[in-house]
Amino acid sequence: MSVRIRLTLILCVVLLPLLLGTTLVLAFVVPGQLREQSSARLLTVAGAVASLQVQACVGAGDSAELMALAVAKGEPAAAALRRGLERRPGYGSIMRDRTVVVSSPSVPSGAVVDVVPARGCSTPIQPPARVVAAPATFLPFLTDTVSAAGLGPVQSVTAVVATPLDGSRLRGWLRDIGVGADVDLAVACPEGTTASTAAGPRNARLRAFAVSRLGGGREGLPGSSQEVVDAGAGHPCLVVAATSSSQGVAAPWLLFTLLGLALAMGAPLVWWLARQLTRPVVAVTLAAERVALGDLSVRLPVVRTDEVGRLAQSFNHMAGELEQQLAEIKHSRDLLADNVQRLGDALQRTHDLDGLLATVCALSASTTESVRATAWLVEGNSLVARVAWPPESLRSSAGRVPVEGTLLGRVVSTGLPAWTVAEEQPSVSAAVPAATDAEDRSAPLGGAALAAPLQRGSDTLGAIVVERAPGSPAYSRVSGATLASITGPAGIAMDNALLHRKAQRLSVVDPLTGVGNLRMLTSTLTAEVERARHFSRCCSLMIVDIDNFRDVNSKYGHAAGDQVLAALAARIAASVRTIDRVARYGGEEFAVVCPELDPTAAVAAAEKVWNAVRDMPFEVDGGSIVVRVSIGVASWPEQARTSTALLRAADNAVDLAKGLGRDQVVLSERPSD
Ligand code: GH3
Ligand code: MG
Ligand code: MG
Repeated sequence: MSVRIRLTLILCVVLLPLLLGTTLVLAFVVPGQLREQSSARLLTVAGAVASLQVQACVGAGDSAELMALAVAKGEPAAAALRRGLERRPGYGSIMRDRTVVVSSPSVPSGAVVDVVPARGCSTPIQPPARVVAAPATFLPFLTDTVSAAGLGPVQSVTAVVATPLDGSRLRGWLRDIGVGADVDLAVACPEGTTASTAAGPRNARLRAFAVSRLGGGREGLPGSSQEVVDAGAGHPCLVVAATSSSQGVAAPWLLFTLLGLALAMGAPLVWWLARQLTRPVVAVTLAAERVALGDLSVRLPVVRTDEVGRLAQSFNHMAGELEQQLAEIKHSRDLLADNVQRLGDALQRTHDLDGLLATVCALSASTTESVRATAWLVEGNSLVARVAWPPESLRSSAGRVPVEGTLLGRVVSTGLPAWTVAEEQPSVSAAVPAATDAEDRSAPLGGAALAAPLQRGSDTLGAIVVERAPGSPAYSRVSGATLASITGPAGIAMDNALLHRKAQRLSVVDPLTGVGNLRMLTSTLTAEVERARHFSRCCSLMIVDIDNFRDVNSKYGHAAGDQVLAALAARIAASVRTIDRVARYGGEEFAVVCPELDPTAAVAAAEKVWNAVRDMPFEVDGGSIVVRVSIGVASWPEQARTSTALLRAADNAVDLAKGLGRDQVVLSERPSD
């Protein structure tokens, strides 16, 4: 179930009862208030009508008194009656000593003339005892009677005035007090007469209701609201004010309609509210799903500053950070792949020590974000800068530092990475001596430095030093570990290169004498002859054979003979040019390849060797041994066309020297095939 649906249900549970409650309050309380207002209004109307009734009674009483006093003073009764009824509707009578002397000429039908003396407005009323059942056609009248003492033989004068209280009079009163046609009036008088302003059947119902209330009844009038003012002092008739409206009672259909409306409006309102409230959550969810699918470019609109806006801001920040970190990871991955490739290349070049170190330096600099990397190798008690990146930063002259008391020395002695910060610059300077030449691009940078060892097993062969420009961040332990991860395999590859170099050297070096062996002689001679042929130059070969060496062995022993062989090789090498290559040709025979020497020069070189041997004896453990040699010389192209032929020609020359008595230099006589 989604959050939106859950929230919708929660809002339904919370809001719909509130909505329904409000609807019910409106349906019941408001009508109740209206009903009370209506009741108060009806009561006011009934009270006002009762007051008007009192006024009418007082008026009738005043007229009757006027007439009685006038007759008592001797005015003719007819004139007094006429004047008393001048401005008053209704009728009247004047009696002298209880005898009617004059009455209104026309008494309305239905008027209760015979009961006139029986009651009047000023007569106290004792309802319901005095209620009599008058015919329905009789009209109610407000009547008052006044008596006065007569003059002369007339003992008393009584005047009676009756004024009608019919429907039209009641309607007039309603108009006078400003009440609309929605209110009906009814009156019921003690003698049983009634009147009402209502029309049709309601007229009879109202009048019957008024009579029943006059008789003490308490039932209400169905379908009406009504208020009653009972007959009282000065107003003999009960007054009913009624309205036919049913205000204050909520009809069932109205309730159902309101409930239906509440539901019809509340349900969409709840759904709309839930939708508005959950929209940010849905937006964040959709965006998070896109991020989960790898789309880190998604961003949420920040349109508000509330929690939703802050959530959107946080989400955008998070997505941005992720995007940036992913880019950095991709960059690091590419860099790593590149570095692995370069490390692989470096390891493949294990036989080329300088090439290997150049690659390792470049790799170390880029991996540790350095501007310079230098490979230092241990040579005795010193360290020598061998290779650097960039290449021009390699120190040509001052690239040798002592192991003791330097950063490099620390690395070499501990076999662990070491680094400096700017404050430790003196030790960096000690590791990288300052150059005197201001233009020397190998001068110390003055920034942080980091060194990691190049190791072969437990031996430290040297170290890689990386440097940063001044002001750059110092190296961290992670940087040290990174550099060590490069120098570790680099040390192994370097060890392989050194071993290969040694094996290569051993394969062409005679182990006893340290000069080249026969393989070196053959390859060198072939190469030099080819070079001389290519450039139309010359090349010579001499073969030095010790005379009667067997006797040396016999006399001084084989070990002493070995020493003589080694010393002789060194003396030959010392007496020829550095470009001449000395090799051991056989047991006690040596060959010297002499580039660029023609026969004459070659003989001179051979004589130089011959003299060097003769100059002094060889000091060995067994004593001082005098050695003589026979030297055969042959030159290309004079005595041979190929390297093999050249070797054979020199050999022949040696044989010739032996034949001539030994201890001499002989140039090959003829060209050899
Ligand atoms: P010749 O004047 O005719 O050259 O006489 P030679 O005795 O020098 O020549 P020969 O060929 O008869 O003997 C060579 C000797 O060199 C024999 C051998 O014992 C000795 N010899 C060869 N190789 C070595 C070596 O490696 N060490 C020692 N001590 N002697 C060697
Ligand atoms: Mg020999
Ligand atoms: Mg010999």
